[in-house]
Amino acid sequence: MSKPQEFILTIENVNKSFEGFKAISDLNFYMDKGELRTIIGPNGAGKSTFLDLITGKIKTDTGKILFGNEDHDLTKLREYQINRLGIARKFQTPSVYEDHTVFDNIMLSLPESRGVFSSIFFRLDSEAKDRITEILKTIRLKDMETVIAGALSHGQKQWLEIGMLLAQQPKLLLVDEPAAGMSDDETKRTGELLLSLEEKHSIIVIEHDMEFVRQIARKVTVLHQGKVIKEGSMDSIQSDPTVAEVYLGRKHSTAA
Ligand code: ADP
Ligand code: MG
Repeated sequence: MSKPQEFILTIENVNKSFEGFKAISDLNFYMDKGELRTIIGPNGAGKSTFLDLITGKIKTDTGKILFGNEDHDLTKLREYQINRLGIARKFQTPSVYEDHTVFDNIMLSLPESRGVFSSIFFRLDSEAKDRITEILKTIRLKDMETVIAGALSHGQKQWLEIGMLLAQQPKLLLVDEPAAGMSDDETKRTGELLLSLEEKHSIIVIEHDMEFVRQIARKVTVLHQGKVIKEGSMDSIQSDPTVAEVYLGRKHSTAA
C-alpha cells in the first residue's frame, strides 16, 4: 500500500478582492510536504497576495487554507499564530543584525535565544552550537562566521537571512524573489542552496528570473489573474499555449 498523501498546504476556493478588484479568484492549490515549489506569473498575477494570504498578513474573503496534518485553517488565525505554527517568510529586502557577526545572527535566531535582548543571558550548549555550524555550512558562510553581517554582500545577506529562518526550524518556508538584485554567480548559488533544502523542508519560491526558475524548477505553478492556469514540470509549462499567451510579447528573462 502506498503512503497516504501528506499535504503541507491545501488551499480551496480562495477569493480576495481589493475594492472590487479580484486579486485572487477561486484559487485552488495543493502542495506535498517536502516540496520545493516555484510560483511564477506576470506582474499583478497575485503572487505576493497569495503569500500574504498564507501568512495572514491579509484575510481571505472566502475559502480555506489548511496547513499540515492537523488541518489548521490559517484563515481563522492571526499572523503571529500562523508564524508560531511554523510558517516563515523571507521578504525581498534582507533584514539581518548588521552589527553582529554572521555566527551571532544565526544564534540570535534560535528559538531558545529569544532574540537579541535576552541573548547575553543565553548560554550556548554544544547541541545548539552544532546546529548553528550545520546551518552556516548549508548557507555556505561557515568561513565567514566571525565577519560582521553589515560587511556582507547583498547575496550573502540574503543567504544569512535564509539561515536565520532555518534556525527557527520552519515547517514551511516562503521565499519572495530571492534572486532579485543578485549577481549571476550569487543567483546560481542561491538556486543551489534552495535545492539543498528540498525534502528536508517545504518551500515556496516566488520568482521573476526565468533562468533561475529553470535552475530550481521541480513542480512549477503559473498564476494569472489570481488563478492557477498551469502546473507541472518546467518543460510542460514552457510548451503550454495558454502560458505562452499570458507571456506574449515578453522575453523569457523577464517573463515571471
Ligand atoms: P504580483 O505579486 O503577482 O505581481 P500582487 O499580488 O502584488 O501581484 O497584486 C495582484 C493584484 O492585486 C495587482 O493588480 C495589485 O495592484 C492588486 N493589489 C495587491 N495588493 C493590493 C492592495 N492592498 N490594495 C489594492 N490592490 C492591491
Ligand atoms: Mg509581487
